[in-house]
This record gives sequence, C-alpha cells and structure tokens, in this order.
Amino acid sequence: MATKATTAAKASAAKAGSAAKAAAGKAVQAAKAAQAARATGTTRTKAGPGGPSDYDAIIVGGGHNGLVAAAYLARSGARTLVLEGRHKTGGAATTEAPWPDAPDFKVTRLSYVMSLLPPTIINDLQLERHGYKIYPMGPYYQAFPEGGSIKLYADDAKRNHEEVSRWSKKDADAMPRWDAWLAGLADVLGPLLLTVPPNLGSRKPRDLEQTLRLAWRHRGLDVRTVADVTRLMTMSIADLLDDWFESPQVKGALAVNGVIGTWAGPYEPGTAYVMAHHSIGDVGDGHLGNWGFAEGGMGAVSDAIARAARMAGAEIRTDAPVGRILLENGRAAGVELENGQRLTAKVVVTSLHPRTAFLDHVGRANLPDDFVTDIEHWKTRSGVVKINLALSELPDFTADPGTNLQEHHTGSVEMAPTMPYIEQAFLDARDGRAATRPFSDGVIPTAFDKTLCPEGYHIMSLFTQWVPADWNSQPHTEELQAYADRMIDCYNEVAPNFKSSILHTDIVGPYQMEHDYGLIGGNIFHGELSLEQLFHMRPAPGFADYRTPVPGLYYASSATHAGGGVCGIPGMQAAKAALADRRVSLRRK
Ligand SMILES: Cc1cc2nc3c(=O)[nH]c(=O)nc-3n(C[C@H](O)[C@H](O)[C@H](O)COP(=O)(O)OP(=O)(O)OC[C@H]3O[C@@H](n4cnc5c(N)ncnc54)[C@H](O)[C@@H]3O)c2cc1C
Repeated sequence: MATKATTAAKASAAKAGSAAKAAAGKAVQAAKAAQAARATGTTRTKAGPGGPSDYDAIIVGGGHNGLVAAAYLARSGARTLVLEGRHKTGGAATTEAPWPDAPDFKVTRLSYVMSLLPPTIINDLQLERHGYKIYPMGPYYQAFPEGGSIKLYADDAKRNHEEVSRWSKKDADAMPRWDAWLAGLADVLGPLLLTVPPNLGSRKPRDLEQTLRLAWRHRGLDVRTVADVTRLMTMSIADLLDDWFESPQVKGALAVNGVIGTWAGPYEPGTAYVMAHHSIGDVGDGHLGNWGFAEGGMGAVSDAIARAARMAGAEIRTDAPVGRILLENGRAAGVELENGQRLTAKVVVTSLHPRTAFLDHVGRANLPDDFVTDIEHWKTRSGVVKINLALSELPDFTADPGTNLQEHHTGSVEMAPTMPYIEQAFLDARDGRAATRPFSDGVIPTAFDKTLCPEGYHIMSLFTQWVPADWNSQPHTEELQAYADRMIDCYNEVAPNFKSSILHTDIVGPYQMEHDYGLIGGNIFHGELSLEQLFHMRPAPGFADYRTPVPGLYYASSATHAGGGVCGIPGMQAAKAALADRRVSLRRK
C-alpha cells in the first residue's frame, strides 16, 4: 500500500499566491496609500462618503455559506459579488481530484455527508434544479476485531431490534424508547436551528421582545422535557448512553455522533449535545438523523448553490483572496484584496473563520475590547485527519464476507468498536501523540454515486480522530502517514483485503486544513461545538444575530448559530439580517 500525502491543494495555493504577488506589484501605490489609513483603522474608499459603490453587497469567502448568502442577496436584487481566495468555490464542501496520476478518481475531500441543509434553503434556491441530488445512506455498520458485526438502521425499528438483540436483548427493547426520546428532543431543538438567537441579558426593547418571543414559543414545555434538554446539554455521551444501554458494542455505535469533529472524548460533558447536533438533521426523506451522499460529492452541493447564486445575478470571483475589510466612518465600506485592489459595497458579508474575519480583516483597533477578547478566546481545535482512499475493490469483512456490493457497504463503515476504544484515541492525542488506534467514521459514497471514479473501483472516505490539537502549526507529514497506516491496519483486521485494495491515499491533516482551506486550528466547524460556544454565544455574546460590532458587516460563517456543518443557515440568516437592516434604513430615509 502506498500512502502519499498529495500536493494538489498546495500547488493551487501556490498558483493563487503568485498571481496575487504579480497583481500586488501593480497595486503597490494603492497599498501605500492604504498603509497610512490603516494606522488609524479607517479608510476612505474611492467612492467617497455616501458615493456610489461598486456593488451593493460583497461576500468574503465562497464556501457554501458565502454562496448561500450571495444567492439570497442577489435574489433580492442586490448587485452581489463573491470573493473566494482559492482557485475554486466550496470551502470545506469540495470535490477534488487529489491524485495527478489518477485524475478520474475524485474525492469529497473534507466534508462527506449531508443531513443538515434545511428544506427551506433547498426550496428557496431551487437547488434540485441546479443539480442537488442526495442518496440516503444505508445502515451504520461496525465489524468487531474480536468477531461479529452490528448494523443500525435509521428507519427500520424491526431490523434494529433483530440486530441489537444479537448483543443485548435489554438494549434491543430500549432502542425504540431511545429513538422516541431523541425525536422528542429534536422537536424542541430542531426549530431552534432556524431561530435567530436573542441577545440574552440585553434590556433594549428589541432584544427583550425577541427573548420573550422565544420563551413564549416554549411555554408548552413540561418539567420532564426541560430536564431532558438539560441532560442533553450538560452530560457526556458516555454517561447518557450508560443510562440507556448495557452492551459495549451498542454504546460504541451510538457514541460516534457525540465526538465527531470535537476536541473531547466521549466522557467529556457536553458531548451528548454534539450527538444531538448530528442527529436532528433530515436529508429530506423524513427520517430523523438520516444522512445522505451528494451525487458528485460535497462539491456538487456547493456548485448547485453557486449556480443558484449566479442565476440570481451574483458574480463569483475565484483566486481573489481578501486582505482586509474597508471601513468608512466606522461602517463597512468594502474590501481590499491581497493584491491591493479595492472594491466598495454598502454591505459586506464575511464567511471566514472568526479570527481571520475580525482580528485580521477588521483589526483589533476597530472592534470593542470585549468582542476582541471573546474572539481571541474562541476555541477552535479538532485533531481531525481526513483520509481519502481509491480502492480496487470493496472491503471483504470477515463477519460479512464478499467484495460484491452489500448493504453494509452503503452506510457508515465505522471503526469505533467501543466507548473505551474511542476514549483511548482521544487520551493519546491529549497526551501529545497521534492515536495508536484511531477512530473512524468511514463511508463509501461510490456504493451509490457512479460519478466519482471509473466503473469497478471505489472511493472510501475516512473521517478520523485524533491527532494532537497543535498539529495545525506544523505539517507533521511523516507522522500523519504513520497514523494513516495504523488506521488502515485497524480496518484490515476486520476486512483482510483492505490494505491490498488501496490504490491511492490522500491524507489531509490539521495543518493543511488551516493553511489551504482557512480552517484555523484545523477545527472542522470554524469553532468547537462546546456549550460555551453555542446559540447566543456563537461567535460572541451580543453578536449571535449574524450582525457584528461594525455596522454594515454581517457574519455568515459556521462559527455562528446552527453552524457547523453544511447547513447553509448562517449564510441565509446573515443575508436576511442585511436585507432587514436595509428595509429599516430605507423606511427611515
Ligand atoms: C474534514 C471535515 C469533514 C466534515 N464533514 C462534514 C460532513 O460530513 N457533513 C457536514 O455537514 N459538515 C461537515 N464538515 C463541516 C462543514 O464542512 C463546514 O462546517 C462547512 O463546510 C463550513 O462552511 P462555511 O461556508 O461556513 O466555511 P468554509 O467552507 O470554510 O468557507 C470559507 C471560504 O472562505 C475562503 N477564504 C478563506 N480566506 C479567504 C480570504 N482571505 N479571502 C477570500 N476567501 C477566503 C475559503 O477558501 C473557503 O472557501 C466537515 C468539515 C471538515 C473539515
């Protein structure tokens, strides 16, 4: 088996960098003029105060959220421009061909499954018309190193009962109650995803009104439900599952969603909520918590949104990294590209990681001290490594033999056999070394999607954890390869043809996530889903309504409420906030 970290993304970043350098030469005069203004933190734009702008709205970052914001703004008639720093749009929702010698093999390089994009956005933007197509995933599958396997179905209580009974009759009986309990909580938490968090603690009439509205909407909650929500928000996934189940195999299977993308082992308080975040989505087939594969990979989702935005009139520029946000009289007035070019707009929406968006692009001097402190304290670790594989044949599991396509290949093909296994992977990383036996949420999208590789071959995507949280500061290339080899060995123990079936390997660690994709700290959601960073605290208290301390600057990244994940909600809400403010301002005029 050959493991080789690819350089495709690095090459593209270098290309973008040299283009930027050439243009920067031409714009040196403009940059010098800007320097003086930068010292004071304010800038006069070329249009001058109150003058006409180049665009009505500029979106910084062409990830899926930036594209959603652009589509909503353009639909309202705003002259909208998206500026994306990389050579292509999509951000963490991207399909790429990472192997130059095998260009027909495409991988969904970072994010890999859909669930959280709400039907509201799919319908508003008519995404199906623009190529959005989802295949609902098959069951959760785990083959155990000591023998045997388990499948869990999102939508088949009878088969779930049969499967779980093989490990524990008691757990099989508990499973329908667990599903009903989760569904009840989803009824409470699901609508909150589309709620703009109120500014809790503020006494301004508008904020008080929003807080009261939220309280009124939940007036029907009884003591029991409030207690269940409290448990969900405060417990560890391990403690929660211990209250419901006895079998280590069943608990391992259900723990996975509690630690996805999280810098915390399953025994850490708060991981029960992470499980809920990943369990309340619905790919549109009506099955709660069911996930699906986007045809063409996750990049196809971004492409569909980009098409919707363009169709509505938005302009999208790639290889256009933004260097800073221009301010005029304390208001957002446009952006300056890294090459020195300035573009003006009365509305700027940024969809970048909060540290880049605020500390780098707006600047500490232009922001309230409390807000700067909140963003400096923003927790943004993950320890995630994405491993993408091209396979010559499907894994042949000892517990469920055969390389022909079978049901257990069609869902998540896990390596998370028990809670202690998952916990040990985290403890290794917290002690400063990559997990000896990493945990993996694996999928084989080509079980359905024939567009990603030639007939007869397969793509497998392994979302793995953990490596140390500070691996974002150095590439750790050789250690990542050793880690990937160990991960592959774990699968090989349960499917002995696995290692020999691997044709190509692509390893994306925290350093590459940060430097090539702007995911600072390697966190997959632009910031951890820990309790102190949720709802009215996301990204900072007082600014969870998709507005920022800078009038005219809106925030649409996964670091706002309902992010992360490929859900588009931050993009939609930021656009709606900008449009609402424009209506108020027009009425006043
Ligand atoms: C390994 C991994 C696996 C994941 N798996 C899933 C999954 O299966 N399902 C799921 O729902 N979610 C998943 N996620 C999370 C999800 O992908 C992200 O939360 C989401 O894609 C973020 O979207 P965004 O638009 O907010 O930000 P991003 O996608 O980060 O977009 C920001 C964009 O801004 C661009 N940019 C950065 N700096 C500049 C600049 N200076 N100027 C201009 N542009 C700039 C970037 O290139 C990028 O395109 C995963 C993430 C990762 C990393």
